[in-house]
Amino acid sequence: MTRKSIHAWATAALLLTAPTAFAQKTYLHCGQLLDVRSGKLRSQQTIVVEKDRIVAVQSGYTAASGPQDKVVNLTNRTVMPGLIDCHVHVEGETSKDNFVKDLTQNPADVAYEAIAHVNKTLMAGFTTVRDLGGSGVNVSLRNAINRGQVVGPRIITAGKAISGTGGHMDPTNGYRLNLMGVPGPADGIINGPDQGRQAVREQYKRGADLIKIASTGGVLSVAKDGSAPQMTEAEIRAVVETARDLGLAVACHAHGAEGMKRAVRAGVTSIEHGTLMDDETMKLMKKMGTWYVPTITAGKSVADSAAKNPNYYPPLVTPKALAIGPKLQGTFGRAYKAGVKIAFGTDAAVFRHGANALEFGYMTEAGMPAAEAIRSATLSAAELLGRSSDLGTLEAGKFADIVAVDGNPLQDISAMMRPVFVMKAGVTYRQD
Ligand SMILES: [Zn+2]
Repeated sequence: MTRKSIHAWATAALLLTAPTAFAQKTYLHCGQLLDVRSGKLRSQQTIVVEKDRIVAVQSGYTAASGPQDKVVNLTNRTVMPGLIDCHVHVEGETSKDNFVKDLTQNPADVAYEAIAHVNKTLMAGFTTVRDLGGSGVNVSLRNAINRGQVVGPRIITAGKAISGTGGHMDPTNGYRLNLMGVPGPADGIINGPDQGRQAVREQYKRGADLIKIASTGGVLSVAKDGSAPQMTEAEIRAVVETARDLGLAVACHAHGAEGMKRAVRAGVTSIEHGTLMDDETMKLMKKMGTWYVPTITAGKSVADSAAKNPNYYPPLVTPKALAIGPKLQGTFGRAYKAGVKIAFGTDAAVFRHGANALEFGYMTEAGMPAAEAIRSATLSAAELLGRSSDLGTLEAGKFADIVAVDGNPLQDISAMMRPVFVMKAGVTYRQD
């Protein structure tokens, strides 16, 4: 992986410094092409790419027509749209000393680490990620990637996530008193609907693409409760209404059912984790059209880390990791059977970046067919992001976000862990 990454960096650097290196047209000869709408494979197809877009998808292998044109041989690969992870945190990554890092890292340190995270993510075949909260470095990183200065996926970011004082998104939980201060709406900490409105407008002003809230406790915050409600319905409504005015979706972290119901009734776009989702909540989500982003990998990973090493997390976190983590996969299975809309999301950062595709295995293990799991990370994810006209399928007019894997993922989902070709917006970042 290291050598491949270096190769990919070098390739990308070359393309960045020499934009004229774009072939006029690129013809991708695809042995198997996954149509994510039907869930069927089509053999021997050609995807024609011009600049950053797909211009045609043709049956058979089309020969290059001009001297500048390029052919990419993927005839023994399975080709699909670039993958989308709807729940990551680009800034951080799990480690035993994360709590100390909060106090020792400057924003620039966070940024340099984040560059490595997004590089791994892109090389794993994830060409778009929805970043659900960090310090603000996420907004700058998104911009740097858009400018072509950093190699990474397209980022849609929530900036700093929002919750109440002492809530899951309070950045000073667990600090000693003189370091706690009184974080307010500008820091994403709200008490009352008015502060909710202010916090949303603050994130909008700082460049967030969507809003993230936590309506219940969470596992990794240094606080006792991991599932009880932490925002009033009036606060959530104020956030959702203000966000809607600004054209922003709202993603809501929730583990407990009461906090989930408040958020769904208030009109949030997606429920993240949803661990203790009951039948009533599922019904309500279907009625409201709320998306579910399961993050099974994060649940498994926190439970594993806590079980293997009782000192991996701070003492307040360990029991929550053991209690909540293992339940996610079962909840996902029930929500899938109930017909709740599902978009792929992992909470990468809670486990190592670049292992995002593990989620596919957990989803299929819980009863979702492979083709539907891949659809949740392409077509459905693009719909959740409100980017269906640009992303999510291999069709003319969309961004040339294209991934090829080694093997047939419909028969063996572990093929998703073996990306061998990654193109984002017409630029090849990986070609093994
Ligand atoms: Zn998260």
